[in-house]
Amino acid sequence: MLTDLRSSKTLNNGIKMPWFGLGVFKVKDGSQVEKASKWAIEASYRSIDTAAVYGNEKGVGSGVRDSGISREEIFVTTKLWNGDQRSGRVEEAFQDSLDRLGLGYVDLYLIHWPVEGHYKASWRILETIYETGRAKAIGVSNFMIHHLQDLLQNANIVPAVNQIEFHPYLQQPDLVAYCQEHNIQLEAWSPLMKGQVLKVPELKQLAKQYGKNPIQITLRWLLQREIIVIPKSTKKKRIQDNAKVFDFELTAADMALIDGLDRAKRVGPDPDNFSF
Ligand code: NDP
Repeated sequence: MLTDLRSSKTLNNGIKMPWFGLGVFKVKDGSQVEKASKWAIEASYRSIDTAAVYGNEKGVGSGVRDSGISREEIFVTTKLWNGDQRSGRVEEAFQDSLDRLGLGYVDLYLIHWPVEGHYKASWRILETIYETGRAKAIGVSNFMIHHLQDLLQNANIVPAVNQIEFHPYLQQPDLVAYCQEHNIQLEAWSPLMKGQVLKVPELKQLAKQYGKNPIQITLRWLLQREIIVIPKSTKKKRIQDNAKVFDFELTAADMALIDGLDRAKRVGPDPDNFSF
């Protein structure tokens, strides 16, 4: 049930993950990320998405610790960086993230990108990390169908989540169907197309109709599609406003209208062709 920011999805291992969280890509460590985390938690967000490569795990950890909300009520995701997969430092990289966060455990640990020749070995280590309880759930990010098929051939644990680029202009229908069939929860990164949804005429029109803004329309559409969202902002008012999506519902016709906007257009790198 989607009632408020505490509403959660039960993942394939029984762990509950909030449908709505704060993304902190490109948010500076220290006071910027601490403030964003604090404002989000004050606004009732209960999930934060960071990554080792964002360089701000320390600040996210302080923000969560200083929030006055108990650790168990906040869901923290972080991710294994590509260089650590290539150098086989998976266990060490996880421990480094855990130390920087200083929160005792990670709620969700993701393989950030499917680094060819390495992601299957990395997954085996994530499975052992999961077994020790230091990560409550493990998953992947930017995995296409062929990566998942390859991973599942030898995996003992099915990824709980696949975090992928997903927004009105990039809907990846085959990948969505595959993940749903395998009980892998989808999570959208760049759900706002990095802010560009504000310029999409159809979303502007819907925003007028519902008395909302195009960002709220987009996030509501994603939630009704049963996709977890992690919009990023560093601004208090935007963090508050972005979450005002639980007091209205898009009609089936309006959902279909947004479904129809797909043009397979990325705002970020292509998982089949990245060089970092
Ligand atoms: P988003 O689609 O969330 O868009 C963020 C941009 O929108 C920022 O420039 C922000 O600016 C702006 N914005 C937010 N709210 C508003 C508003 N109400 N009005 C106007 N502008 C607004 O982009 P991200 O790429 O950050 O994606 C979200 C999260 O997904 C990331 O932060 C990260 O956690 C994750 N991610 C994961 C990736 C992966 O490979 N797994 C890749 C990329 C992202 P401002 O901050 O100034 O408000």
